[in-house]
Amino acid sequence: MQTPAPFEYEHASSVDEALALLERHGPETRLVAGGHSLLPMMKLRLARPERLVDVNDLTDLAYVRREGDQIAIGALTRHAQLASSPLLASLYPIFQDAERVIADPVVRNRGTIGGSLCQGDPAEDLSAVVATLGGSLKIRSRTGERVVAARDFYLGPYETQVGPAEMVTEVVIPIRPGAGSAYEKVERRPGDWAIAAVGCFLTVSGGVIADCGIGLAAVGAPGLPALEAEAALRGRPAGEEAYAAAAQMAAAHCRPQTDQRGPAEYKRDLVAELTRRALRRAAARVMAGGA
Ligand SMILES: Cc1cc2nc3c(=O)[nH]c(=O)nc-3n(C[C@H](O)[C@H](O)[C@H](O)COP(=O)(O)OP(=O)(O)OC[C@H]3O[C@@H](n4cnc5c(N)ncnc54)[C@H](O)[C@@H]3O)c2cc1C
Repeated sequence: MQTPAPFEYEHASSVDEALALLERHGPETRLVAGGHSLLPMMKLRLARPERLVDVNDLTDLAYVRREGDQIAIGALTRHAQLASSPLLASLYPIFQDAERVIADPVVRNRGTIGGSLCQGDPAEDLSAVVATLGGSLKIRSRTGERVVAARDFYLGPYETQVGPAEMVTEVVIPIRPGAGSAYEKVERRPGDWAIAAVGCFLTVSGGVIADCGIGLAAVGAPGLPALEAEAALRGRPAGEEAYAAAAQMAAAHCRPQTDQRGPAEYKRDLVAELTRRALRRAAARVMAGGA
């Protein structure tokens, strides 16, 4: 049986205490939220932190709420809470699409949005969702707070902008009235990580695409935005011609690797097909009134 290397363990009862512990004990200290990414890595000895700071008592960071023209999601919000949020279901059903295909109930009951985004796994579904929607992350340290766009959050696979004495406290998503959104994923077995996945949102005015976002999972950097595909959609009549053009651009933009989940060319083809499907479904939801 695989076991982690020895480590010290402390509970934090507030964000301030968590930040103080991170600062006091230095870079070999890691936060643990749901533990569904960090603990497997520790068991495989791919991560060997000297100390864990458990933030599961910070229940005031578990919320999904509307704040003016934004949705605020606390970093400790579990997958299961995202899946059952009426606010997200009505404004951004892309979250429910993604949550339905993330892992299994055990992982979804425990894993958090903060942990998911901070893990920086290129196949992470919520990274693609938040990048698609042009969300941002609030990052706290003992000296203040900064806000980083999700699209700038990753320095590379498993590498984020969060420093050793910092913590993500909130994810913010802009509300776009009338937007439709969707997430399409292909995996080998139900609940598995993506072979490829595509998220998108659309707003349509007078039949023309006014605004859009496309984010990719498992085919490049975490949450990889398909910028050329987005540019090609804006200002174009909503419909198959626009979706086909965006699908080709998203496929050209992604950087899949051949691995145990399949050859790179197969993943590229999947990106094209999933982009088309996601755009069709998002457009249908625009017609249906945004959800
Ligand atoms: C069997 C299995 C299948 C899975 N399948 C999928 C899947 O299909 N799709 C998918 O997207 N995910 C999948 N996951 C991952 C799952 O979504 C995890 O919940 C998620 O990756 C990590 O969330 P966590 O709260 O468990 O983070 P943790 O494991 O606790 O932490 C992960 C990392 O983030 C850091 N961290 C945690 N919270 C914060 C914070 N607030 N601020 C700064 N740093 C923080 C930790 O220090 C650690 O480095 C799967 C996991 C398992 C075990």
